[in-house]
Amino acid sequence: MTTSKPIPEVVLIEGDGIGPEISEAVLYILEHAGARITWKKASAGLGAFEACGTALPEETIEAIRTTRVALKGPTTTPIGGGFRSINVQLRKELDLYANFRPIKSFPQLKTRYEDVDIVFIRENTEGLYSGLEHEIVPGVVTSLKVSTRVASLRIAEFAFSYAERAGRKKVTAIHKANIMKLSDGLALECYREIANQHPQIEYDERIIDATAMALVLDPSPFDVLVMENLYGDILSDLGAGLIGGLGLAPSGNFGQNCAVFEAVHGSAPDIAGMSVANPSALLLSSLELLEYLGQTNCAKRVSRALQKTFETKEICTADLGGTSGTMDFAKEVCKRLDE
Ligand code: ATP
Repeated sequence: MTTSKPIPEVVLIEGDGIGPEISEAVLYILEHAGARITWKKASAGLGAFEACGTALPEETIEAIRTTRVALKGPTTTPIGGGFRSINVQLRKELDLYANFRPIKSFPQLKTRYEDVDIVFIRENTEGLYSGLEHEIVPGVVTSLKVSTRVASLRIAEFAFSYAERAGRKKVTAIHKANIMKLSDGLALECYREIANQHPQIEYDERIIDATAMALVLDPSPFDVLVMENLYGDILSDLGAGLIGGLGLAPSGNFGQNCAVFEAVHGSAPDIAGMSVANPSALLLSSLELLEYLGQTNCAKRVSRALQKTFETKEICTADLGGTSGTMDFAKEVCKRLDE
C-alpha cells in the first residue's frame, strides 16, 4: 500500500505594487505544473497598513511560524519615512539570518556575459540595516552598523556548508575592513575561523568597491560570495544586471526554523497595475521553494518550460525586450510544460 505525503501548507504574501500581478501568474503556473501546495494567504505591505494600521500584522508572522515556509511578493518600503521595511522586520522577527541569491545566466537570453554562475550570500539581520538611527542634534544623524561574532560565524557557516553541499569550489568574503576596521574586521576574523574548518573549499577576501568593478569586467572568477547586509543588497542587484535584470533574480531567506522565498526586486511602482511585470524572479523563487519542499521534479519541469519560453523573445515581457503581458507570459510557460 502506498501512502502519499501530506500536502504542505505554505503562506503566500502577494505584497503590493506588481506583487499581486506576478503572484497570480506564479500560482497559475504552479497549479498547471501540479505543485503540491496548499496556499494560506496572509497580508503584508501597503494594503495591510491601510486596512489595519500595521504593514506586517502579527497574524502574518504567526502564520509563517506555523507553516515554517512562505512565498512572498514584493512590498513597498516608503522612502525617508513611514513604516519600517517589511522585509527587514520579517527577517528579524523570524530570525531569517541568511539570504541566498543565486545568479545564473539563461543561455536563451542574450546578455553581455554567457556563463555567469554566482551565489550571493547576504547576512540578513544586522549591519547598517539594524534600523538604529538617531538624530543627535538637528542636522546631525547617526546610523549604527552592528557587527556581531554570532551573526558573522553563522552566515559564514551557512556559506561554507552550502558550498560543500552544492559542490562549489570557492567562498569569497566581501568587506571594507580597510576603513571599517572594527566591524568588518570582526566579520573577517569570523569568516577566517569558519574557512579553517572547511579546508576543501578555497577561501579569499575582496574589498567591496573593487569587487563591484571586477564583477562588471569579468564575473567568471567568482563562485560563492559571503557578505554583510548592505554589501549583499547592492552587489546582488549588480549580479542581477549581469544576467538580464531584476526580473530574473530569485532569493530565499533561511533561519533555523523558517524559510521565506521572494524575488530580489522591489514592488516596481512605476509599472504596477499595467500587467507588464516579469513574473520570472518570483517564479524562480517558487522553484527554490519547491526544491526546499522536496518537489524537485516539478521544479525541474517548470524550469525547463521557463527556459523554452525565453527562446522566443517576442513572448517575453518588456524588460527582456519582448511585448508579452504578465499573464500571457505565464500561459506560454504552461504551454511548454509538457513539450
Ligand atoms: P526596493 O528598494 O524595494 O528593492 P527598488 O527601488 O530597488 O525597490 P524595484 O522595485 O526593484 O526598485 O525596481 C527597480 C526597477 O526595476 C524599476 O524600474 C522597475 O520597474 C524594474 N523592475 C523591478 N522588478 C521588475 C519586474 N519583475 N519586471 C519588470 N521590471 C521590473
